[in-house]
Amino acid sequence: MKVKKFGGTSVGSAERIRNVGKLIADCKKDIVVLSAMSGTTNSLLEISGAVENNDRKRAFELADALQSKYAATIDDLYTSEEYKAKAKEVIDGIFDELRALTKNNFSVGLEKEIVARGEMMSTNLMNLHLHELGINSVLIPALDIVRIDMHGEPDEAFIRTEAKKALEAHTEADLYITQGFICRNEKGETDNLQRGGSDYTASLLGALLGADEIEIWTDIDGMHNNDPRFVEGTTPVRNLHFEEAAELAYFGAKILHPTCILPARQHNVPVRLLNTMDPAAEGTLIENKLERNAIKAVAAKDNITAIKIKSGRMLLAYGFLKKVFEIFEKYETSIDMITTSEVGVSLTIDNEKNLPRIEAELSQLGTVTIDRDMVIICVVGDLEWTNRGFEAAALEALRNVPVRMISYGGSNYNISFLVRKEDKTKALRLLSYHLFN
Ligand code: ADP
Ligand code: ASP
Ligand code: MG
Repeated sequence: MKVKKFGGTSVGSAERIRNVGKLIADCKKDIVVLSAMSGTTNSLLEISGAVENNDRKRAFELADALQSKYAATIDDLYTSEEYKAKAKEVIDGIFDELRALTKNNFSVGLEKEIVARGEMMSTNLMNLHLHELGINSVLIPALDIVRIDMHGEPDEAFIRTEAKKALEAHTEADLYITQGFICRNEKGETDNLQRGGSDYTASLLGALLGADEIEIWTDIDGMHNNDPRFVEGTTPVRNLHFEEAAELAYFGAKILHPTCILPARQHNVPVRLLNTMDPAAEGTLIENKLERNAIKAVAAKDNITAIKIKSGRMLLAYGFLKKVFEIFEKYETSIDMITTSEVGVSLTIDNEKNLPRIEAELSQLGTVTIDRDMVIICVVGDLEWTNRGFEAAALEALRNVPVRMISYGGSNYNISFLVRKEDKTKALRLLSYHLFN
């Protein structure tokens, strides 16, 4: 059994939905995870934003515009009047729910309810499309099988049990369809796995159900060796170790949700990245195999804040770092990079929500300096410390870029540089030029 996830662009129009339909038509017993049609999640967030601004009129206008788009998709997608009518009934029902939701007062919970409608619509459209083709697909609501705990972490025992139960209840099915991204939380409320979270759903289901492979189908032929949105001439990487892919995803390679490799790695289920626009392309295979002596790819993570704590006294006396870390733990803020010297410690965070409180407490330990709008540039590959020359090559590439921090040796797979936002593109291009040319 395989789990196959198709992203927003892959189901972004009637034509694309038909295309995916062809790709999955003879996938016996596979689980197909779908994102919302591209643009829908953003539109739903805009609707939710209008509710937050108490602008119900705008919320209704936006809902009307989105509904028209779905009406046109339905018209194009189905051939028979019977299926057009069936789809219209389901989608109109979802828009009725959406309008009812917008009458409530805004809350984060309401936003999650609103945004969940995107995946509900795409999966219903696909399921009916397959039925029209005579394929016996069964739609399994993700809200029944995916749950997160009070810390926002997947409740693996629940997912394994409930997903199995749901599949066993439909042994007659040719294939199963479910929503990516959406889930329930420990209180049973509708929640989600954060933006781009459909990849995570697929990886969780594949890992916990012991799939043969997890396929992430998107709009590009696999993981490229640099971010194609900023660098020209990037090329696909054919093989990645789980750790390399996890580092790239976490440090900004948008093709994968930041934490989606973790379950696959833990349960040793290979992940294959494939291109819906070019299904014959080889893509990228992510598994527990390391290609020795190779730098594989570069990625960048935006919106990083660097914090330096400096003290005249013996700063790194034992117990000092513990005090620093406790402050971040208290304010539930995770640290990405860290470097130390005898008089100071620098670290980075990507979530400024609690920064004023963190800064106030850190100030009791030393002088605090904050640099905003920074970017982590992460170089990934076989960076085991006894290999020679790779860190030098990366540093040489960045010779003319001011570097605020360097982190190396934390894992065998990465070296990270902290640079200013305005130097990001230059740094990415220089690294591609020097490392891959
Ligand atoms: P989906 O909607 O299918 O989830 P995403 O937009 O989330 O697709 O991810 C695919 C996009 O990720 C690509 O179109 C590409 O622009 C971007 N991307 C960023 N970094 C990389 C990379 N290293 N390799 C491939 N794609 C990347
Ligand atoms: N639809 C969600 C998003 O746009 C989840 C996903 O596409 O993975 O973020
Ligand atoms: Mg994505």
